[in-house]
Amino acid sequence: MARERITLKSDSDIVLMREAGLITAAALKAVRDAIAPGVSTLELDALAESTIISMGARSNFKLVPGYNHTICSSVNDEVVHGIPSKERILQAGDIIKVDCGAITPPGWNGDSAFSMVVSGGDPELMARRQQISDACEGSLWAGIAAFAKAKRLNEVGRVIEKSIKDAGRYGILQDYIGHGVGRSMHEDPAVFNYQTRDLGPVVVPGLVIAIEPMITAGSQAVKILDDEWTVSTKDGSDSSHWEHTVARHSGGIWVLTAEDGGVAGLAKYGVTPVPLES
Ligand code: MG
Ligand code: MG
Repeated sequence: MARERITLKSDSDIVLMREAGLITAAALKAVRDAIAPGVSTLELDALAESTIISMGARSNFKLVPGYNHTICSSVNDEVVHGIPSKERILQAGDIIKVDCGAITPPGWNGDSAFSMVVSGGDPELMARRQQISDACEGSLWAGIAAFAKAKRLNEVGRVIEKSIKDAGRYGILQDYIGHGVGRSMHEDPAVFNYQTRDLGPVVVPGLVIAIEPMITAGSQAVKILDDEWTVSTKDGSDSSHWEHTVARHSGGIWVLTAEDGGVAGLAKYGVTPVPLES
């Protein structure tokens, strides 16, 4: 494996990254509030974009070569990288995954994603889809809590995998993983969602990563659709994706894309996030 080039961030860099994180969070909140049966994923994309621009930032997804949207919207068996479309109308009971990011004028990135079950569907189907979302979100917070204390980074992946396995029989995507984030949306190091033989880089203050478990209700095998972007389960099973941008800094941990900095999500792990002063 090639040696990774990790760019550590200073505390003042992380304060600036918090702004990108909060703008990303605001865009995702606007999308979450608009999700309902009958809404197209292109409408959600427009909402995210207008929110980011109104806060003085830009979409970093639009900077990815060949990608022309502000969010990825992936429905049901689509796991990640789904392209918003006016033809894709949300149905009651769908499980949608929305991934979004913002880059601020100083050039710092946020990256975050959530899953949500669209209201009004068959109760049994909705309950099953809420379960996979809860399993995935739970593993994200377990992983973030592990990152607060980890000495080596792949401790995070080990904890994420255990959390998912404890929650039920779910598949974990192998080829799609988390990453470092900073002046680029995607930087080293790789952040695995499962145990690896390698312990990974030493965790030090200044490490800022996007942790993003992606799981399926069936086989972990995925395929890329004809649009050359959408990653979908091969067996058609449902999926979930959750993501936060998280910093380890001189005083502790801070979830940059969570409005509360991670207070609520980390409480059950006895971890208290530490905001930095600007
Ligand atoms: Mg993302
Ligand atoms: Mg990411």
